[in-house]
Amino acid sequence: MKTEEKRTQCLNCGNTFKGQFCPHCGQKANTKRLQSVELFKNVVSPFVGGDSKVVNTCRDLFVRPGIMVRNYLMGKRARYYNPLQMFVYVITTYAIVSYVLGVSTSIFDEMAELDLGSLDEFKDSASIGFLIRYVNTLHDNKLYGTFFFAFLSVFPYHVFFRTKIQRPDGAMLPLNYTEQFYTQMFHSCLQMMISIILLPVCLIEGAEGILSYIYQIAALVYVVIIYKQLLGIGWMKSTLLNILAIMLTVVLLFVLVVVVLVAAMLIEEAMK
Ligand SMILES: [Zn+2]
Repeated sequence: MKTEEKRTQCLNCGNTFKGQFCPHCGQKANTKRLQSVELFKNVVSPFVGGDSKVVNTCRDLFVRPGIMVRNYLMGKRARYYNPLQMFVYVITTYAIVSYVLGVSTSIFDEMAELDLGSLDEFKDSASIGFLIRYVNTLHDNKLYGTFFFAFLSVFPYHVFFRTKIQRPDGAMLPLNYTEQFYTQMFHSCLQMMISIILLPVCLIEGAEGILSYIYQIAALVYVVIIYKQLLGIGWMKSTLLNILAIMLTVVLLFVLVVVVLVAAMLIEEAMK
């Protein structure tokens, strides 16, 4: 015979309940007094894997990214970090690892010197070369580039990836803008994780060129896998649609940069 579980009052929200977790807010029934061990666990666990959410998110992103994103979008949320939180974790880890290794592509440096060239340079030449350099600098920047590109990809991916997927309630719907953004952000997290793995290799002299190829190819292969698994489409279809969506994103990025630069020029002229 099962013994009756005693009722507990939740220390977080005051709800009275039976069981291991408060059904109202999710807090553990067994909330212990804060001790130095807890302090250590709370600081370290997200980074070393004591936190199962980080382990789940990292492992599933690497091993079966599209299935993981699909699970997340379709409602398996508690076992994973949302992609924005995850992005903060991976970018912090990237910064720490690159700082420890003394790699020059440190995020701190990038924050300090985002050199985009001057407006005068654009006015003088207004050349495609200047624009390409500008767009490249934006895109290569770990901190802004990844996030910015994910944001800009939402519309192109929404245009090309219209495959409907079955929802938990049985409805068949394509991904909406927010779901596309979350998918892109999970891919950004994956890109950052690949960057972290490649960081120690950066220390080898002359490896930078090859590394950048490996990085680009890995990023492309992963986005193809993500949409293949997420939407249940074939390799060919996913590859083709991804190339189209990326091309449209690059076009959008160019248009946006030109609009911003021209606007900045006009404002400068008007101020004179
Ligand atoms: Zn509660």
